[in-house]
Amino acid sequence: MSALLEIEGLSVTIRRGRHESTPVRSVDLRVDAGEVAGVVGETGCGKTLTGLATLGLLPPGSVARGSVRVAGREVTTMDERTLRELRGREVAMVFQNAATAFDPVTTIGRQLTRVIGMRDRSRGGAATAAAVERLRSVGLPEPDRVMGSYPHQLSGGMLQRAMIALALSARPRLIVADEPTTALDVTVARRVRRLLLTLQQEHGFGVVFITHDLAEARDLCTSVNVLYAGTVVESGPVEQVLDGPAHPYTRALLAALPRLDAPARRLASLAGTVPRSDAAVAGCLFANRCAEAFERCRHERPRSRAVDDDRTAACHLWEEAR
Ligand code: SF4
Repeated sequence: MSALLEIEGLSVTIRRGRHESTPVRSVDLRVDAGEVAGVVGETGCGKTLTGLATLGLLPPGSVARGSVRVAGREVTTMDERTLRELRGREVAMVFQNAATAFDPVTTIGRQLTRVIGMRDRSRGGAATAAAVERLRSVGLPEPDRVMGSYPHQLSGGMLQRAMIALALSARPRLIVADEPTTALDVTVARRVRRLLLTLQQEHGFGVVFITHDLAEARDLCTSVNVLYAGTVVESGPVEQVLDGPAHPYTRALLAALPRLDAPARRLASLAGTVPRSDAAVAGCLFANRCAEAFERCRHERPRSRAVDDDRTAACHLWEEAR
């Protein structure tokens, strides 16, 4: 089966004047049709840049290595005109902050009808009817009123629903959702997550769900990819990864999570800091924080290896155990 999204060895370099950093060092990611693939990790681990690379939204020249294929088409070498056609039709993004993602001086209805018109060339009443239907499908009450509203006139939850309607308006096969519920309160966030899942099950599109919250990934995702310092350190089916983590970093993330179903305990914290994105590190990027590090970890970067049928981890321990 060909993948909806295949990222192989993606490396992203950002240049500011003479300063150069590599916040994405090596990311591999695959998403199949109907899959909800979580991309989890701390702030600055390269999650958002990986999402932006999927839509060809990185500054020109910043992809230093690797490939990004959406529905079999290489994004990293696409010209801007072809990219515009790809966005919306094949892949769309739900941004973290809907308030800044919408054009503030254009009504929601006008922004929606514009995208719908680009997809099926409908105009006037037909485009308006389709836009109202999209707003209704994301559970927005009074869609006619929302059509005439400007972004600042809607609450955060309503705006995020409108953003999902906008992302789905051209019926893409893949959605990249970048921390779409971070700015919402807990109850509204849960409703928006449920909405995304319901729509995904109805329409069968694939999702890249970017989050720093492992509980959120467990709630929504079928598979999970754990990022650390711009590399994928572990990936596999969500229950396997979160119930029996193979990588010391995933274990450390889980140990730092509060649990309501277990006796109260002091939460573990991870000492040390993530290597800077402009630092040259020869060995494992996690070695300075890893309680299980040994000599080899300091000078040799571990490669991603299968730890069972469905799962991979980038850690020397797995090789040493064989
Ligand atoms: Fe820890 Fe070594 Fe595995 Fe890196 S390779 S996660 S330092 S044990």
